[in-house]
Amino acid sequence: MNQKNSKIALVTGGNRGIGFAIAQGLQAKGYRLIVTARSLDKAQAAAAKLGATTIPLELDISSDRSIEQATTTLKQNIEQLDVLVNNAGIYPDSNVDILTTTRDLLALGMNTNAFGTILTVQALLPLLEQSQDPRVINISSGMGALDGLTTTAPSYCLSKLALNGATIMLAQSLESKGIVVNAICPGWVKTDMGGTSAPRSPQEGADTAIWLATEASRDKSGKFWRDRHVISY
Ligand code: NAP
Repeated sequence: MNQKNSKIALVTGGNRGIGFAIAQGLQAKGYRLIVTARSLDKAQAAAAKLGATTIPLELDISSDRSIEQATTTLKQNIEQLDVLVNNAGIYPDSNVDILTTTRDLLALGMNTNAFGTILTVQALLPLLEQSQDPRVINISSGMGALDGLTTTAPSYCLSKLALNGATIMLAQSLESKGIVVNAICPGWVKTDMGGTSAPRSPQEGADTAIWLATEASRDKSGKFWRDRHVISY
């Protein structure tokens, strides 16, 4: 597989929702796509919709073993990674609040939304370092901003708050390597997670991530964005 002449982007949880819309948008801009899903079947189905050059990959970011296996497979297929979109996420809270949530629910959100993203960046760093224009985009949420914390979504909010903190720290750590790291809030988007009442389409939710991955100036790293503007953490 010769991947040398085109930029390569990987979208975690790229099989549906905002992740699939980001993958579609990047492909329309000429990027070669790696689309990951928790099962290879789902990744293959998404890749088939995106086009023949898309590589499907099984990846569960809550599992170190899965991250390791996916990284090994990737390194056999590509020599560099230009864009990493950490989109995979869960909303574990249902009928709980900050006074009734459990350790397990809190851990579930952290393990996927925050820790999974950090460990995915660690694993893929050698491939990002081979790029001339490496960019990492973390799909966060306004519910992880200090003024967006909501008592009825403790696991989700705290995990996205942690993801925002990780974005700042990763940007600091990777500045010397020229790797730009940013977080975005896609707004409230009509997906399995966002529900049918959400006002935004997946394409609208994907716009800022696609822009940061492709066109945005590289001079802002460690920032939090919505609608192509920096917002407060
Ligand atoms: P979605 O439709 O529920 O899709 C979530 C995606 O994440 C799926 O592809 C899912 O894969 C994947 N995923 C979940 N856990 C994973 C894991 N452990 N490892 C790898 N992949 C995993 O949600 P969405 O609305 O598109 O959300 C995408 C991102 O946007 C999330 O980070 C979410 O927090 C964020 N966000 C969404 C909204 C909104 O209104 N929708 C608002 C703010 C932020 P499977 O198909 O295998 O389950």
